[in-house]
Amino acid sequence: MLFKELIKKKRDGKELTEEEIRFAVYSYLEGAVPDYQMASLLMAIFLRGLTDRETLALTKSMLESGERVVITTDATLVDKHSTGGIGDKVSLLLAPLLAELGLGVPMLSGRALGFTGGTVDKLESTGMKVELSPAEIEDTVKTFGFSISSQTAQVAPADRKIYALRDATSTVESIPLIVSSILSKKLAVNTTAIVFDVKCGSGAFMKEEDSAVKLARKLVDISRMYRRRAGALVTEMGQPLGRFAGNALEVLEAVTALSGKAEDDLLEVTASLAGALLELCGKTSFRHGRALARETLLSGKAVERFVRWIEYHGGSPEPKVAPNTVSVPAETSGYISAIDGESLGFLLVELGGGRRKAEDAIDHSVGLEFFKKVGDFVEEGEPIGRIYFSDGNPKELSEKFLSAYRITERAVPKPTLIKRRVL
Ligand code: URA
Repeated sequence: MLFKELIKKKRDGKELTEEEIRFAVYSYLEGAVPDYQMASLLMAIFLRGLTDRETLALTKSMLESGERVVITTDATLVDKHSTGGIGDKVSLLLAPLLAELGLGVPMLSGRALGFTGGTVDKLESTGMKVELSPAEIEDTVKTFGFSISSQTAQVAPADRKIYALRDATSTVESIPLIVSSILSKKLAVNTTAIVFDVKCGSGAFMKEEDSAVKLARKLVDISRMYRRRAGALVTEMGQPLGRFAGNALEVLEAVTALSGKAEDDLLEVTASLAGALLELCGKTSFRHGRALARETLLSGKAVERFVRWIEYHGGSPEPKVAPNTVSVPAETSGYISAIDGESLGFLLVELGGGRRKAEDAIDHSVGLEFFKKVGDFVEEGEPIGRIYFSDGNPKELSEKFLSAYRITERAVPKPTLIKRRVL
């Protein structure tokens, strides 16, 4: 089989066979094909798309490129995956919360991608160990009811290599490529149920609700082909989630939220995802599960589990925050009508809190704080946010922060957080 014939076939909009897809994935993984040929194939896929059969074949090849993680425990194992957004620290709340509700959560998470944050980077700000073997994951789930660790090099290595190339060639925002990338990792663990949090809006990969619903549908359908109980929520990411973005700041926010003081949006999204999982496992209805999760989160019971878990793996639940701060005042009075999450995400990358390239080091201590959200009224001169930084010119940073906000005279409604449920 000639690789360039595969590129041509996809370039011309034809369907690749399972065998051809497997050949492409393995040739690239084994180093038999150079980056420029794989990048061309990825761009052809980006432009032409993949059929459902091709997406399934790509998921299967990437999943089978690595090992499976099999956890043995009496608890029903569940997982959640977010497509990524600004200030999205939901996993840090949801995993201990679900454990508190009696489920087992062996979560494998990723690092920051593009302008969105990564759970593993957030946890690394505490100094804890994030790379665990399958035996250590099992021990952690048995001890705490949940584990969050980084994807090991043994899980879906083809995705790891292909993702780095997609990141460098602007081929990330493709539904079939995102589906196969996410599922090659999520299906590697023996969970019973998975819920997908498909983020939608300016701070997410999917800017429009239509494409977010399409992505959610495909994630759910393919997971079911692998005999998982799966569902998805399409949730608001037209602005940052919660009060902070930045690795250490988000861990601190998670501790506050788990102590019973979650910001409303964070509480709503976390409780809804928990409700969806409780329903998928047949424990209760979505509504009742969500109410139960909300009540448990507000009780503050889950914080002790979270803190003990960080300490067990050698971390501190009080990671260091950057010493310099600057408040950002509104330039006019009015209602906040839009916040550009993507540009705030890039501001965070510029502060050192995210990566431009996969190998970049991260400054965990920097971040952003949001005092006002869409629909809120601000007076001229009133602070709408704060920047935590290590280096940089505060005036320039403030200007960039401000340029992400639109303020209008007319009142603006608060956006709906849970836009759709995909069952
Ligand atoms: N998250 C992933 O793991 N892969 C993608 O392609 C996008 C988001």
